[in-house]
Amino acid sequence: MNWKLLEELCNTPGVSGHEKAVADIFRGEISAFTSEITTDAVGNVIAHIPGDGPRVALDAHSDEVGFIVSHIDEAGFVRVIPLGGIDPRVFYAQRVVVHGSEQLKGVVGAVPPHLLSKDADRDKSVPINEAFIDLGMNAETVHEKVRVGDIVTFDSKFEDVGEAFIGKAFDDRIGIFTMIEAVRAAKKIDCDLYLVAAVQEERGLRGAVCAARAVRPEIALALEGTVANDLPGVPPHKQFARQKFGPELRLTDRLLIADRALVDFLAELADKNGIPKQFTVKSMGTTNASAIQTSTVGTRVAAISVPVRYIHGPNGLVRKIDIEHQVKLVTAFLESAGNAA
Ligand SMILES: [Zn+2]
Repeated sequence: MNWKLLEELCNTPGVSGHEKAVADIFRGEISAFTSEITTDAVGNVIAHIPGDGPRVALDAHSDEVGFIVSHIDEAGFVRVIPLGGIDPRVFYAQRVVVHGSEQLKGVVGAVPPHLLSKDADRDKSVPINEAFIDLGMNAETVHEKVRVGDIVTFDSKFEDVGEAFIGKAFDDRIGIFTMIEAVRAAKKIDCDLYLVAAVQEERGLRGAVCAARAVRPEIALALEGTVANDLPGVPPHKQFARQKFGPELRLTDRLLIADRALVDFLAELADKNGIPKQFTVKSMGTTNASAIQTSTVGTRVAAISVPVRYIHGPNGLVRKIDIEHQVKLVTAFLESAGNAA
């Protein structure tokens, strides 16, 4: 596996609406396989590898959760709102990067607990809109370098810790990585293939809708990082995807009812190739698969995901073996996609 590429993808900032740097990496990598690459008006990168067989789209989203500057006060403290679902418990006291006229590092501050009037307030997490970013600069400099609308990301670096990686943005740089590595690994591509790096997933699956209307795929796979709750204190029925049990094949989520025949096809492929897999049925979360499914005349969809612990936080944890299995399964799919039709 080209882990250096995954590192670059995760470390690159790409909050919803500001995916260009990530899109550029995707474009650069995929240009080794086709010259038919377009970027649409919203920033989706769509690459076409022409072939016989069904019109298939692989989708991964180029955005990550993060923040956008909403206000800068007279003293130079910066307020933000979240872009995407972020747990307020993981915001206070984090290091962040404000992407102003230059990259500025800061710390998330809030009223210290011992100054809170009620004991009860000390046990509560600070809401994101009540915290602020302290850049440690005088107010004029902050106002010079930071504007309302600038984006903010967690200041977390990708790190190899042996069996696993820790870092930010595994959701969904793992999907982008899977797309690139599967196309690289596939000995043949058994379909008319479109690769979509879709924008603004974390703000309501928005880019995928535009891309689906352009591509009109018969079959689409959303490649994702998903919640792994295989943690102490979580009962088995609430764990959903578990690490080291292979890619998650999701049958339902908040919006999705996956194409059962397509999921069964993927499961059989996994079995045939000695790749572990796990099914989940849940009523929360969703992926671009549900948006693609109903954006045009109807598309057969499935979502294949790598289980990530502490997803959407400043530091997630993902197992190398799970990413390897995801890439293998998607590679096997590309090599035999004609049989899925
Ligand atoms: Zn995602």
